[in-house]
Amino acid sequence: MCVEKVFWHDPYLTELTAKVTSVTKELVTVDRTIAYGFSGGQESDYGTINENSIITADKQGKQIIYTLAESHNLQVGDRVIMRIDWDRRYKIMRLHFAAELVLELVNQNFNKPEKIGAHIGQDKARVDFVWQGNISQIFELLERELKGIIDSDVPIESEFSDEENEARYWEIENFAKVSCGGTHIKRTGEVGQLVLKRNNIGKGKERIEITLR
Ligand SMILES: [Zn+2]
Repeated sequence: MCVEKVFWHDPYLTELTAKVTSVTKELVTVDRTIAYGFSGGQESDYGTINENSIITADKQGKQIIYTLAESHNLQVGDRVIMRIDWDRRYKIMRLHFAAELVLELVNQNFNKPEKIGAHIGQDKARVDFVWQGNISQIFELLERELKGIIDSDVPIESEFSDEENEARYWEIENFAKVSCGGTHIKRTGEVGQLVLKRNNIGKGKERIEITLR
């Protein structure tokens, strides 16, 4: 059995009624969910199932397993209300798409350097590249192009490329189509103002850190 991931169809939903489908001690699954489980570098949501805080949300294949406090008292078949920490999720969605734009602009302008890591949290996103020299030398160009696409507030489409295997993509017309199973904002303007920072993480390895202004 696998959970219906409502966070894909409606990434702005903050409350949802669901049904408990399995309980093993502190581990609980539900039939549908709005609470994202860590995947593709995007951190898990914080939230609750009824009044129980979600301690961890682990994506295992197509399933998401929620760890609650052992005193949760939930049983299979229970109707529950899920809520997510929207302030955190929305910061993550904005930083996630900022990282998408940074990566895509680097790829388009600098011949797709090897990406060696990425992580999106609520305070900061980062993308790591194999890169000779100081990557901050391209920030002027990056910041100009980022501002252009964010200020133009163009729509972002997010859809399945293969629903059976839960493969998804985002697309901006005349700009890019990129595979990603994260939660995406609807328009580029939502990203808002950004600050880029360079971090050298080893010889020939450069990190771009992104924060919201
Ligand atoms: Zn994405």
